Amino acid sequence: MENKKIKIVLATGNPHKLQEIKDITKGSNIEFSLPDGDFNPNENGTTFEENSLIKAREAVRVSHCMSLADDSGLCVEALDGAPGIHSARYAPTQQERIDKLLKNLTRAVNRKAKFVCAMTLVDGEGNLIHREIGECHGEIAKEQSGSNGFGYDPVFIVDGYGKTMAQMSEKQKNTLSHRAKAMKKMVKYIEESL
Ligand code: IMP
Repeated sequence: MENKKIKIVLATGNPHKLQEIKDITKGSNIEFSLPDGDFNPNENGTTFEENSLIKAREAVRVSHCMSLADDSGLCVEALDGAPGIHSARYAPTQQERIDKLLKNLTRAVNRKAKFVCAMTLVDGEGNLIHREIGECHGEIAKEQSGSNGFGYDPVFIVDGYGKTMAQMSEKQKNTLSHRAKAMKKMVKYIEESL
């Protein structure tokens, strides 16, 4: 008998993220699509969990069906968890965000950091169904290297690999990233429970 696909709207306006999630979930029973219409979440939560719920509910508002959202960012120990939920807005451009981070860590001995991803699944009425958290641990390099990926990838050295995320192929990043870890647990939940 043919397995019926589970259809889920991915709460993002970013086609690159849709592709990344499709790559991570290849072989699963889930079919992802982007939200219809004017997807414009007001991410005013105070945690990754709250913001992912806000995004998921905004996708329900425009698409009226089960939705999945992720919210992620970089948390640096020596900066008390900053930039955290403000990762995308830490400075105006991505290069300025990296420069600001390296400047703020100039005298830091402890350069430990982690990427965190909160993933939230809601039903077609916006009720919370399930949540998963994924983390990827590492440290902030003294200078940037590598040209793959996006965001803070060029300065994030992954524990145990001795290279930045930007020096990894997309395929390798998708085996160890915070998003991949949260997504794999979420897929397991969806396939076993829905
Ligand atoms: P978002 O919640 O996935 O949109 O991520 C918010 C911000 O966190 C991004 O704009 C990036 O600055 C940073 N970020 C999240 N995930 C990653 C990643 O995998 N690599 C590098 N930066 C990331």
